[in-house]
Amino acid sequence: MHTHTYRVTVLLDVNDVQDVDDRAESRSYIVADLGSGQAVIIDAVIENVERDVRLVKELGLTLVYAVETHIHADHITGASLLKDRTGAQIVYGAGAASLVTGADLFLQDRQTLRFGKSELRALATPGHTDGCASYLLPGAVFTGDTLFIRGNGRTDLQGGSAEKLFKSVRHTLFALPDDTIVYPGHDYNGRVSSTIGEEKRFNERLNLAIDKATFVDLMNKRHSPLPAKIDVAIPANMRAGRPAGEPQR
Ligand code: FE
Repeated sequence: MHTHTYRVTVLLDVNDVQDVDDRAESRSYIVADLGSGQAVIIDAVIENVERDVRLVKELGLTLVYAVETHIHADHITGASLLKDRTGAQIVYGAGAASLVTGADLFLQDRQTLRFGKSELRALATPGHTDGCASYLLPGAVFTGDTLFIRGNGRTDLQGGSAEKLFKSVRHTLFALPDDTIVYPGHDYNGRVSSTIGEEKRFNERLNLAIDKATFVDLMNKRHSPLPAKIDVAIPANMRAGRPAGEPQR
């Protein structure tokens, strides 16, 4: 029986309901520190910012950080708009530091971010992109596109590497306790969460019975269509979601 200092709210991308051409199925998460009411949002989506701000207000929370797992290719981050609306500071993993302008903080591998009595620890997990980070709470991990429920993110764009992703999952994420809850950056099958132990057994390409050479071969044989919004999303996300020409604040 765990007792935690935080509560996780899982948010689906409502934009997907209208946008039939690009079912990105992105997931965002609000993590609230129960004692202080300070909160962070992980991987906010720009179209959902009004909903997210309304929820934060309704729950009496203070949004202190807008945290990104990576430079997304499929949607524009809500980080800058959330900063304008709430004053939240924008946080990326250090792996994205050379590419992103407009962030307030880049977390090194294992560096922590405190909000109230809760703490989010950055884990460098390159492979989907070269700058990907996961974020660990006691008992839960936000894996971005490094580890999905039964799957993993593509490794053919943005400096991605199947070798690096394999190492990030098997050496970093699978080193966490088996009962650690996994919250992914996307899910295309209607799942909300998994656990590290479940993924060790049942992940299609990364379960413990699969070796590195097999995984790399599987990934390098895949040919996925480019994300529908890639040409607008990557440049915008390299400005932390700030529209082109608008000065950073
Ligand atoms: Fe991604």
